[in-house]
Amino acid sequence: MKLILLGPPGAGKGTQAQELERRHHLIQLSTGDMLRATIASGSELGKEVKGIVESGALVPDEIMIRMISERIAQPDCNNGFILDGFPRTTAQAEALDKMLSEKGLKLDHVIEMSVDADVLAHRIGGRYSCAKCGAGYHDEFQKPGVDGLCDHCGSQEFSRRADDKPETVKARLEAYEKQTAPLLPYYRERGQLRSVDAMASIEDVTQEIERIVAVG
Ligand code: ADP
Ligand code: ZN
Repeated sequence: MKLILLGPPGAGKGTQAQELERRHHLIQLSTGDMLRATIASGSELGKEVKGIVESGALVPDEIMIRMISERIAQPDCNNGFILDGFPRTTAQAEALDKMLSEKGLKLDHVIEMSVDADVLAHRIGGRYSCAKCGAGYHDEFQKPGVDGLCDHCGSQEFSRRADDKPETVKARLEAYEKQTAPLLPYYRERGQLRSVDAMASIEDVTQEIERIVAVG
């Protein structure tokens, strides 16, 4: 199963992707994490990406696509994957479709997570994750079972993203509206778009997504 989760920052993409990984043995492909891993690998591509990132420039679409293409060819992606954070622009969506069709692959569903703008700041403001295993938490909506201990790996170290500060959140929401929201009609026209009400509780959103993926 090949899925895209689409929605503004804070919509709950990462949270639901972790749930989908567990339930369906899919691999969550967060392009931000992939870039960091590619750089750390020291490969030719990694060196190229490192230079671009360190210069402060955006990584070109062609490199992002190459990175995703290499990643989904690895055996752990045999069951499928969830793209979270990519594509962000219509040009990236087109490039992704082209790359997949060259491999004889097609996306199964593009799931839009829709949410009101005013709740996003609150969700982003309270989020943090386990520094060791990456499991996501929230000060109010998703606390660990035991205070200060990760449910999944028992670590006591947590971290918050540097770009989750109120000043940067506003700019990220604006960038989403401007660049990424136009992807909704792109996938709607292709009959691939499914929407879920991401204002609901984490459990209810999971159930809605389960109903979509159950159809196959
Ligand atoms: P995204 O990956 O779309 O940016 P996250 O999955 O990181 O969003 O969710 C942002 C924050 O909101 C996290 O702290 C998460 O625990 C919390 N959250 C996610 N989904 C919900 C929900 N349906 N209701 C309340 N809080 C949620
Ligand atoms: Zn952990």
